[in-house]
Amino acid sequence: MNYFLYARKSTDVEDKQVLSIESQLSELRSLAKRESLEIAAEFVEKQSAKTPGRPHFNEMLTRIQRGEAQGIVCWKLDRLGRNPVDNGQVSWLLQEGTIQHIQTPERSYYSKDSVLLMAVEFGMATQYSRDLAYNTKRGLREKARRGEYPGPARIGYINNPRTKRHDVDRRKAPLVVRAFEIYAEGQSRFEDIASFFYEKGIRTGSRSGSGGGKSWSKNRVKRVLTDTFYYGDFEYAGEIHKGTHSPILSKQLFDRVQTALLKRGHPQKAKKDPQALCGGLLRCGECGCSITGEVIVKRQKNGNVHRYLYYRCTKKRRPCSQGAIRGEALEIQLSALLARHAPSQGWAEQMLALADKDEQEAGKVAERAIRELRAAIAGIDEKTSRLTDLYVEQDIERDAYLQRKRALMSERRSAEEQIGRLERNATAWLQPLREWIRDAQMLDEIAKGDNIPSKKSSLQKIFGSNLTLQAREARGAAQNQWTSLGEVHWKNPNLDLVATTVDPTGLEPVTSTLQMWRSTN
Ligand SMILES: [Zn+2]
Repeated sequence: MNYFLYARKSTDVEDKQVLSIESQLSELRSLAKRESLEIAAEFVEKQSAKTPGRPHFNEMLTRIQRGEAQGIVCWKLDRLGRNPVDNGQVSWLLQEGTIQHIQTPERSYYSKDSVLLMAVEFGMATQYSRDLAYNTKRGLREKARRGEYPGPARIGYINNPRTKRHDVDRRKAPLVVRAFEIYAEGQSRFEDIASFFYEKGIRTGSRSGSGGGKSWSKNRVKRVLTDTFYYGDFEYAGEIHKGTHSPILSKQLFDRVQTALLKRGHPQKAKKDPQALCGGLLRCGECGCSITGEVIVKRQKNGNVHRYLYYRCTKKRRPCSQGAIRGEALEIQLSALLARHAPSQGWAEQMLALADKDEQEAGKVAERAIRELRAAIAGIDEKTSRLTDLYVEQDIERDAYLQRKRALMSERRSAEEQIGRLERNATAWLQPLREWIRDAQMLDEIAKGDNIPSKKSSLQKIFGSNLTLQAREARGAAQNQWTSLGEVHWKNPNLDLVATTVDPTGLEPVTSTLQMWRSTN
């Protein structure tokens, strides 16, 4: 396997902290030697990577695509790209396997394992991952049509990583069946089922709450007791599919439970109007008008009143053929979209720890910069006093004196301002990163829960105005950093995100020093 060696340093202020090209070259050459990497060619670039169009970088990628090399050795990932186009190209080639390995002094990136990490280190937003997310969803619909539920296994089943199907969980399936039987007798509440599960060891995982190991919520019990998957059918994207998994319940037992639910008064709350989720959240995929929620009241002859929530296109601009969708069906889809972007257990803690580490690093870098600026100010003051001496000695003209003094004062003012900015904002860039991690951390819980406002706000954060509804199917392309989470999660449901994102050296300067400099310049 051949490698290309790539070194880059620009005169950009972001690159101030980066090793010189000569040092990069000598470090990388010895790294290649140590790791026995065969270097086929070296590329040196003295240009910024903020915009696409670096000649040597482009030449390198072309030659990689021709098969001349399968790996890259570089100082850090941010040497390869600092704009979404180039980052996307590198990530894509790596994922495809055209690039099989990127080696930096700190770590290795391989095609199979580092998509999320690369996305994070590269700055998170690239068009290619949006396209991939869309294709992934299309694949999931195909899967549903074949009768395979395209999602994580519910309680009583386990994901079979080999067949990608849902196998019956020999230990828990009988407990689920038993729960149905208990509830069908009509004497139990959801809390009783939750305690039954708790006693049998079915408890909350630490993903769905702090710590985990607690009793299930009423809603979670209800979701199990109304889940048609257990007798063989499942709903996906608003459609019912006949599953190919093994049912663990008879339809008859399921129906008895539904009757018991009605008797105990747990059907959709009839007294109150169902709460609508929309309000500008979704647009119609056909005509682009906004989707609205509306409650339809149905009165039966026997006097019962049912209220159903439907979502439909407002059709304000022009005729549109889209029909309405039941509230529950849409909410299930939206919850699934949210759940798809929830990171795995432990990920958030690791990321926050890395952010803390970066904060310390950034603090140190800022301190150093402030020390240098203070020294510069002292130098300016000295020059000013020498200049004044010259003037007093009448060695220079008044005009020349004033002009040079103005220049020195202006230089001093800039340095002072820069110190002020560094003192205030050295780590300001970490705040949005932390908020993002915390949002991601909450996502699984929000997706599973019933809090409509939280769901709406999470959907808006992830999808912005990209959510559409067409043919009763909600679609959304996640924006910015969320693309990477959703994408990795679904391409590799068994991938351990923690393992792929833990970088013992902390987050790369793409997200740290770079942004610090940006916010101060
Ligand atoms: Zn429409």
